[in-house]
Amino acid sequence: MAGEHQLKELPYAYDALDGISEQQIRYHHDIHYKGYVDKRNEIEKKLDTVDREAAHQNYSEYRDLKKEETFNASGMILHEIYFDSLGGNGQMDESLAVVKRIKQDFGSVEAWRADITACGKAARGWALLCWDTNDQKLRNYLVDSHHDGGVWGAVVLLAVDVWEHAYYHDQGPKRPAYLEALLRNINWNKVNVRFEKFA
Ligand code: FE
Repeated sequence: MAGEHQLKELPYAYDALDGISEQQIRYHHDIHYKGYVDKRNEIEKKLDTVDREAAHQNYSEYRDLKKEETFNASGMILHEIYFDSLGGNGQMDESLAVVKRIKQDFGSVEAWRADITACGKAARGWALLCWDTNDQKLRNYLVDSHHDGGVWGAVVLLAVDVWEHAYYHDQGPKRPAYLEALLRNINWNKVNVRFEKFA
């Protein structure tokens, strides 16, 4: 059935994070993330009855719905990975397979951190640690918006949200301070579960 995506509850307390406030997480999870789930459902239901005969590349209701479907589906999926990856202490335990692979593919944990931080400063949407199934390598990819910059076949392991709504309540325009706080809260066991599922 179309339009039946469910909001995933936060897998830790709203006030559990270090340097990211309860209010920030409430705005982000309960309003922004929920908005993507709700709108994806609304779009899917409208696609059930849209006039397909009128589809046109310049303008049509079908085109608008399909464009916004990828925006909202990607927004929903990336936020679920984002929230699921937090709630930890940021420690990159070298016994984890994903950490070993980061060292192999980026040279060192420090090199990866420098690159994901640069990616987070340069992006307008997301900095993503991905397992690229095309050639079996870890890469950081930069995504503007939610659906603009994705690479086919790359599986997102860790999603760093750099939309202003992710940090302005707490850090204002100081995005680097937010990136530091975010990396302190990563649960690398969760990232490793996704790596071992797909790699
Ligand atoms: Fe967000």
